[in-house]
Amino acid sequence: MTAGADVLVLGAGPVGCTLALALQESHHSVRLVDAQAAAPNAFRPIALSHASRLILERVGVWGAFPVTPITTIHVSQAGAFGRTRIDAADAGVPALGYVTQYAELLAALRARVDIQAEAGPEAHCTVHAEGAAAAARERRYAHDAVVARVAAEPVPQGVAFERFATEGPLALLPLAGEWALIWSARPQRAAALLQAAPPEFLAQLQQAWGERAGRFTEVRARAQVPLALRVRASRVAGRDVYIGNAAQTLHPVAGQGLNLGLRDAWDLAQTLRDAADAGDARVLARFAALRRLDAAATIGVTELLARAFLGDHPLARLARGAVLTGLDVVPVARRFFARRMIYGPSALP
Ligand SMILES: Cc1cc2nc3c(=O)[nH]c(=O)nc-3n(C[C@H](O)[C@H](O)[C@H](O)COP(=O)(O)OP(=O)(O)OC[C@H]3O[C@@H](n4cnc5c(N)ncnc54)[C@H](O)[C@@H]3O)c2cc1C
Repeated sequence: MTAGADVLVLGAGPVGCTLALALQESHHSVRLVDAQAAAPNAFRPIALSHASRLILERVGVWGAFPVTPITTIHVSQAGAFGRTRIDAADAGVPALGYVTQYAELLAALRARVDIQAEAGPEAHCTVHAEGAAAAARERRYAHDAVVARVAAEPVPQGVAFERFATEGPLALLPLAGEWALIWSARPQRAAALLQAAPPEFLAQLQQAWGERAGRFTEVRARAQVPLALRVRASRVAGRDVYIGNAAQTLHPVAGQGLNLGLRDAWDLAQTLRDAADAGDARVLARFAALRRLDAAATIGVTELLARAFLGDHPLARLARGAVLTGLDVVPVARRFFARRMIYGPSALP
């Protein structure tokens, strides 16, 4: 084999760039390739967990893009009992998460790496970080997401809202003095919300949220995003390995997709660091085993929030209410849930 690089990373999205940066100090030569020279600039809010902050600090990019800290999350369900409030203090961290924009995070990462347009000669190990995986099982969700930026009075600061409605979950994240909205709705309704004149859109949003997040005054950057769960059966095939969305694409409801992908990138860098041959079957099998629990648990929690919490059946409402009330009154459960969302399975006692 004429090897061009030890490690070929296909895809300079946030996950591929983070891997390339994390391998910079290793003995492996890395070639990072992307089909798109320009980073996309469509509005996509990203909630980064505290664990993602630690990874981005280690690769030297934290502080190079703007973030809005989340200090409190309110979780509730529409038209029924049950709510909980999670504070950063519950989890023993300075902030529960940090909201940023995909384009800004990616620009900061890309400024620190070299990106090639073509793969070049064969490598010892090929890492797939191209986003949506081709050979993956796919299950479409019954709803799409409407994403938008919304101005409000009072100006959003520090608090995030997650609300379970019968059509699907809604989230409001504080972002640079506005709300970043992720609103699940059946595709037809989502299309209508996208087309609606701004005052009509704001009126419907106000109706869905009540007054708890303030009075919505302006909307921009609306987009409709189809949602699906895509998971590859195996992360490793020969000398190829799959990370980030190329391994698993999740519903954005719990804000876990990129956070999980960054943990993939970090763990892969740690596994490859001391390996003589980065594509050695035993090395890649060790990586796959290392990621199994985190991926399965994160997919499980996201699926619970995206699907099992849906529906108008009185029992479903009761179960949601019981879970939310349980979290609210049992500090240990709340702390565990918060740490689980922040750190992944390392939060397991
Ligand atoms: C509306 C919305 C909100 C979200 N909110 C959150 C959130 O709050 N928190 C969170 O953690 N996650 C969130 N996510 C998920 C998050 O955006 C993804 O998990 C993340 O972008 C995955 O990163 P990635 O680098 O694996 O893939 P991508 O971001 O998809 O990047 C893939 C890269 O590969 C390149 N590429 C594609 N094909 C090829 C090829 N053949 N060769 C070379 N390069 C190629 C592309 O040009 C791109 O640059 C959200 C997603 C959506 C849709």
